[in-house]
Amino acid sequence: MGYVFAAPPQVVVPVFASSDLFPVHRIYCVGRNYEEHAREMGFSGREPPFFFAKPADAVLVVAEGAIGEMPFPAMTNSLHHEMELVVAIGKRGRDITTASAASHIWGYAAGLDMTRRDLQGEMKKQGRPWEIGKGFDHSAPIGAIKPIARSGEIKAGRIWLKVNGEMRQEADVASLIWNVNETYTGTPAGVAAVKKGDLMEGAIDGVGAIKVRLA
Ligand code: MN
Repeated sequence: MGYVFAAPPQVVVPVFASSDLFPVHRIYCVGRNYEEHAREMGFSGREPPFFFAKPADAVLVVAEGAIGEMPFPAMTNSLHHEMELVVAIGKRGRDITTASAASHIWGYAAGLDMTRRDLQGEMKKQGRPWEIGKGFDHSAPIGAIKPIARSGEIKAGRIWLKVNGEMRQEADVASLIWNVNETYTGTPAGVAAVKKGDLMEGAIDGVGAIKVRLA
């Protein structure tokens, strides 16, 4: 017995300053996890965290120092950037305590949770899943993964994103409502629309940087 057609290749993200590759299994995302961002989306307080996922093949690898090209997606008039600290989990587990969660982290990267906000908003209104707004091709641009062995545990540090040189998002990882050991990640305030040709440049202290142009 064989596959009925060629199996898709394993999605991988390069490891910083190395020829090693990190194999991607799933991409988990956390909703509204920086206070200012929760407020700009119309929520307040420390509501329980909630999650959604993107398919592994939504990854758009952006090489160290390069400018990645993201094709502008179809069906949206409101493509939003969400700059995020990506936490690469390298060890299986279940019933993991907050105190031992960091031992499952393999590394970190700078990434973007690109969002078709108009489609996401429509789905929210109807109480339907967000996939069409979040899980499309190339919706997860990511830079090289820096091993935790090099970076140390990232509990704080500036996270920012500029569009065409103008600051759009700027926060500190320490201001996550639910920190990495309690959940995973999220995006800070300042999310906004981008258009074809725009250059997004972001970075996280101690982790790395990412540059993406909308083609
Ligand atoms: Mn996000």
